[in-house]
Amino acid sequence: MESTRPVAWHTLEASEVLSRLDSRPEGLSEAEARRRLDRDGPNRLPEPKRPGILRVFAEQFRSPLIYVLLAATVVSAALGRWSDAAFVLVVLLVDATIGAVQSSKAEASAAALNKTLALVPTVLRDGRRQKPPVQTLVRGDVVLLEPGAAAPADLRLISSEQLRTDESLLTGESQAVDKTADHPAALDDAVADRFDMVFAGTTVLAGRGLGVVCEVGEGTELGRIARSLAAPGARPPLLLRMEAFSRRIAAATLAVVVLLAIGQALRGAPFADIFLLAVALAVSAIPEGLPVAITIALSVASARMARRGVVVRRLPAVEGLGSCTLIATDKTGTLTENRLTIKRVWLPDGSVLEVDGEGLDVTRPKPPASPEQGRALQALARAGVLANEAVLSIAQGGVEAAGDAVDVAFLVLGAKLSLHRDRLLPAAPLLSSLAYEPERGYCAGLHAAADEVRAEVKGAPEQVLAMCDGFDREAAEAAARALAAEGYRVLAVASGPVANHGKALAHDHLRGLRLLGLVGLIDPLRAEAPEAVVRCREAGVEVRMITGDHPDTARAIAAQLDPAHPPLRVVTGPELRRLEGEALDRAILEAEVYARVEPTQKRLIVETLQRHGHFVALTGDGVNDAPALQAAHVGVAMGARGADVARAAADLIIADDNFASIVNGIEEGRNAYDNIRKIVWLLISTAIAEILLFLLAIATGLPMPLTPVQILWLNLIHEGVQDAALALEGREPGLMRRPPRSPREPIFDRQMIEQCLLTGIYIGGVGFGLYWWLTGVAGYDAPAARNLLLAFLVLFDNAHVLNCRSERRSAFAVPWRANPILIASIAGSTALHVAAMYLPGLSQVLELQPIGPVEWLWTFGLASTVVAVAELYKRLRVPSLARAIARDKGGAGDGAPP
Ligand code: ADP
Ligand code: MG
Repeated sequence: MESTRPVAWHTLEASEVLSRLDSRPEGLSEAEARRRLDRDGPNRLPEPKRPGILRVFAEQFRSPLIYVLLAATVVSAALGRWSDAAFVLVVLLVDATIGAVQSSKAEASAAALNKTLALVPTVLRDGRRQKPPVQTLVRGDVVLLEPGAAAPADLRLISSEQLRTDESLLTGESQAVDKTADHPAALDDAVADRFDMVFAGTTVLAGRGLGVVCEVGEGTELGRIARSLAAPGARPPLLLRMEAFSRRIAAATLAVVVLLAIGQALRGAPFADIFLLAVALAVSAIPEGLPVAITIALSVASARMARRGVVVRRLPAVEGLGSCTLIATDKTGTLTENRLTIKRVWLPDGSVLEVDGEGLDVTRPKPPASPEQGRALQALARAGVLANEAVLSIAQGGVEAAGDAVDVAFLVLGAKLSLHRDRLLPAAPLLSSLAYEPERGYCAGLHAAADEVRAEVKGAPEQVLAMCDGFDREAAEAAARALAAEGYRVLAVASGPVANHGKALAHDHLRGLRLLGLVGLIDPLRAEAPEAVVRCREAGVEVRMITGDHPDTARAIAAQLDPAHPPLRVVTGPELRRLEGEALDRAILEAEVYARVEPTQKRLIVETLQRHGHFVALTGDGVNDAPALQAAHVGVAMGARGADVARAAADLIIADDNFASIVNGIEEGRNAYDNIRKIVWLLISTAIAEILLFLLAIATGLPMPLTPVQILWLNLIHEGVQDAALALEGREPGLMRRPPRSPREPIFDRQMIEQCLLTGIYIGGVGFGLYWWLTGVAGYDAPAARNLLLAFLVLFDNAHVLNCRSERRSAFAVPWRANPILIASIAGSTALHVAAMYLPGLSQVLELQPIGPVEWLWTFGLASTVVAVAELYKRLRVPSLARAIARDKGGAGDGAPP
């Protein structure tokens, strides 16, 4: 590389820039690009430094629980209770370590989420379009710009066509900027005025362009200001609700604890004991682990989704997918394969030709019956090949295509008839063009012919037929409708001389053209799509199609997707435009298919559906889909086909563009919610149990049933691991045969309140009964009774974890294999407690003694009764609750378990 002094690229002519970078408009060779990558390093912005593990560890100390524990350590030490102080300190360190590990894991997955923003640039290498990873871009690479694309590096334009970009990321100025390859900027022009440059991170709004990379990574303007592209991560609403819930519980606990402390003080207990007890009680009642466990459940779900092709960009979307009631999906590429083939051609003489071959097969088909038809077909194919932006390369190795699938289909038709774009162009050089944009509905090129200027047009029949005359309009429209009704995507092709005075092509020039015919393209359904649609229906999730395609085509495809339920109502974009107010709402609510929709109307559709109570997941891929993706509860962008801008606006990215993946995502989202409920059940019921135990002991004047260190041991060591392990539970059977839960449904619904109270009161009550019997009847002294009670509570908790593995199924019906970590943590917690009884230091601090086999046997027997209680509840009560919920929703519930 030359000097390190930055070159003022914006002041140079395009040709000068190319020669300085030793590049050409066809791009570098793959080998050269690799060489430059080795020499100059990757095209990457400096990553924001992630906080070191020590920082994360220190962060943990900023939680109320830790303050309480710290105070306890200090007070214990001040009172000379060194072993207590040491124990609390150790618990505190263990807790902070667990917290640090969990939150650094969460950070790492958040960083991974941001990486998925990674742009997918289209680059010319070896003269072909390629999509190399953005980090491998080097100076001299030639990048293709089209609407929706974000520039992957700083580019000097070498050609442009009505190119407009959004530079707000860089300049803060939200107005579109016109870019042109033609004139170099002046040396001291501000970044915002360098119209010959397209800067890294800015996005293309309209037009096309070709630019050569002149700065990468930290050398770009973006790198200079080192601002990150990453969207700020939103916090899941469920998590916010749970944090608020934890805070409320904490406040309530504090009040109760103060009252208890006053009570104890009145009874003359020493201050130190009261203080430590208050601390311990606060620790047992505050569901500290809840927010962390929820975050873990959501991240586990997002990892599981990633394995099934769904990349989560914002964690709340995991929760959102679970309560999704409606999916509004694209047709092309999502429900279908986007592998279009022209199968039928209607010629203006009224004849219909069938075209052989599928996909990229370019073998010459049977010639049509008459030579006139042959010529007409040639003319149509020629226009379709000229008004085209795709590339088809036919080599020994086979046929390769790049670009829009409709365009590729026309190139294939041309190739079948020996019409190749690069061989046609020299005789008909391109003067100007109107690129295909969904809102335009057609594309056109202006070509120089012998002594005239001709336009070649292809696009939606509504648009193209309006440009033509001298044909049987009724027959053509009838033919288009007939093709659409059979599920064909229909395009019309036209051509003709235009009066052009050397100006750029505009819509107004396109009149009086000659209609060359209609083509019918087949886009096969994705193999998984019909099944996925049926799964949605079973899960109570509606599927609606939003497409730019013709209503009849859309209707036919919808009927193929779900033959048992063909769509009853199809509404079109132009129809919606004519409606307003209530009529508009009604049309949107009632339609099952939205056809000929412009991207800008998607947002209206989504917002109307949401206003009427739907929880909407929307798919999108184009640059104009971004507002709708942002408005939808869950915005889903297409990974392979989507524009960079759409990906940036979305909550989820479907890697393979496949509709079935969204349905998998819904399944994982529902599972995550189920698991969160399991965690809540465990944490809240054990908190109720401990508080009840103490209240009863105080009310009956018994000595404290557990020492403060014992409470900490039970809460922070034993329960801390198990709640997180519940986040790993697998899917409940019938998960996708339930109606979606209402997004407003509280976690503490009827069933949750009942089961928490039932099992919490049972554990607390039996624990108190045992303690009362040990001290009052069996004549144990307080330490010995506590020793047995603690062993009993550890076993109780461990048995209860098995209950919490499912709210519906029997604990015995949930396979052990489904969650080995949970089983291991139960075994580990029991083993740890036994070990603590024998370990010299620990057994003294915890006041533990070994207990004999007989005592183990009956404590174990008694502890397992909590399983019986939960089993009875699940069998006798849960089915009727489920039926009531299903009745309320009016949907198909999964009814009683067998
Ligand atoms: P979809 O929602 O199914 O992806 P589009 O918005 O991509 O639909 O396309 C809408 C209509 O625009 C098509 O039915 C077709 O008539 C026309 N069209 C699509 N692609 C092209 C293209 N490359 N060139 C010209 N016209 C096109
Ligand atoms: Mg499309």
